[in-house]
Amino acid sequence: MNRLRDILKRIDGKGYKAYKDLTGSYDFGEFRLGVDHVQGDPFAAPSRISVYVAAAQAGLPPELFATPVRRIALEDFLGRAVAAAIRQCVRGRRGIGKSGEMAIATSGQQVLVRNAVLIAEGAVEARLTLGLPAAGRTIRGRDAEEMLFRELPEVVRRALFYPSLDADKARRHVESVEDQQALRDQLAKQGLVAFVADGAILPRRSGIDDRPLPQDAIPFRAPESLARTLVLPNAGEVRGMAIPAGVTLIVGGGFHGKSTLLHALERGVYDHIPGDGRERVASDPAAVKIRAEDGRSVWDVNISPFIDNLPLGRDTVRFSTENASGSTSQAANIMEALECGAGVLLIDEDTSATNFMIRDERMQQLVTKDKEPITPLLHRVRELYDEHGVSTVIVMGGSGDYLEVADRVIMLDSYTVREVTAEARRIAGAPRVRPETAGAPPLDLQPRRVPTAAMLNPARGRREAKIDTRGLDTLLYGEHNIDLGNVEQLVDLGQVRAIGLLIKFFAENQAQASTTLAEGLASALAAIEEGGLDLLPPWKTGDLALPRLFELAAAVNRIRP
Ligand code: ADP
Ligand code: MG
Repeated sequence: MNRLRDILKRIDGKGYKAYKDLTGSYDFGEFRLGVDHVQGDPFAAPSRISVYVAAAQAGLPPELFATPVRRIALEDFLGRAVAAAIRQCVRGRRGIGKSGEMAIATSGQQVLVRNAVLIAEGAVEARLTLGLPAAGRTIRGRDAEEMLFRELPEVVRRALFYPSLDADKARRHVESVEDQQALRDQLAKQGLVAFVADGAILPRRSGIDDRPLPQDAIPFRAPESLARTLVLPNAGEVRGMAIPAGVTLIVGGGFHGKSTLLHALERGVYDHIPGDGRERVASDPAAVKIRAEDGRSVWDVNISPFIDNLPLGRDTVRFSTENASGSTSQAANIMEALECGAGVLLIDEDTSATNFMIRDERMQQLVTKDKEPITPLLHRVRELYDEHGVSTVIVMGGSGDYLEVADRVIMLDSYTVREVTAEARRIAGAPRVRPETAGAPPLDLQPRRVPTAAMLNPARGRREAKIDTRGLDTLLYGEHNIDLGNVEQLVDLGQVRAIGLLIKFFAENQAQASTTLAEGLASALAAIEEGGLDLLPPWKTGDLALPRLFELAAAVNRIRP
């Protein structure tokens, strides 16, 4: 500690590079400080520090991190506590560039596996970034001293130590996450693909604000016919709407809450923080949102079950394009998701290509099958479930065609749910076992694609491939700008960063050994899930969050050759 003070005195007023002397480890009594990486100049990515506190010293009840699920939840809780303490205790800007900033990476409404706070071997490690202060290129030693000796210990005390650390709140956080995992784990055993508990608040503040609608939200309530009561380890019995496996249709008038329900199911693959409103909304972990995405690139995907006989004899068994149409992009999105083992497809009419979803009788008379390349999803959903066990949840308010293939129909009426399966049967008849696929190619789900050169050598000869993000929408991977704007279940910048590093990790470690791309990506991800995000070089940056296989693959699939 005194050593650190001495260094700061010595380098005060010197050139910025002298900050490098801070690198090292310092004993602060109640915690240990590591200065892990010092930024090169005031505008560069801020310096990285880590703080170690013995869990016993902090007074963390051991049962709050006794299992992996609990540990991850507590790590999330502590990360948020550090972020809150930074907002309260850190003055902020102290000079040019990033001077004076202090930060920690935390999640939004979701609880994700991150590497910002780690609890291991009875110690809590928190990784922060610090903008070491400068005027021009000159070190402001006094300001640095204030940050490290006054602000940082105050942040640590508030966030990681009793009594300011709120143990009851931590317990509620941990128990809520544990319940969510238990809920999701039960789904398959109960034959369900999703569950929405009574009282859930589904609408969000806005399309760009994932927090709950603060006023006038109508709490969810399950209709009796779809209601089930599940038992959670902490909350006990919870009643809610169970969506069984199969083909489920969500209908209702415009603006009655259909898309809001589907969005909640999309996010139901993640855990949510207490107070979010979706804490007891759970979906099958292999549920994937499928949408049209015209303009995306596609390489080597077999879209023939949905699209064949393209004009000019274009191959759709091994379909590649730099500029997909609405229907070909949606077909590719489905086939790619299935390649990675998707168990549930979530589809909204709002973001679908109409000609991919339906073709009505009149149009079938006018444009006969031999002139129409598209076999709409309508003709394949039963087969997907009956023969491959892949369920679908489809929002469709504008066409009745799906009534005849649905196992159940859920109606939203002014944000209230009713089951209308019986009425739908009266109108459309018994569900058709398998509508005519009229000679379309078989639904072959066997993965066979292999990694491409663009993926394996992102630098294209340059020595070190740069991996960076431009918001949630764009991953820079070497020479490639990967557009992730329509990958809707990607929720965190840390996931985007981790995806970039995972692709590289895969290219360097797994690619040779694996027979297919899907298998290789899955084993790369499994290695990181097992060994931790810190296995991804450049190690211990603290700004990563774990993605799912589907989003990892989505990024790979959008690399342009
Ligand atoms: P649809 O897809 O049926 O056209 P949306 O799901 O887009 O309808 O919802 C329309 C509007 O209603 C949105 O602004 C949404 O936030 C709001 N909304 C949805 N569900 C609820 C609810 N339970 N309580 C209050 N407002 C809601
Ligand atoms: Mg809608």
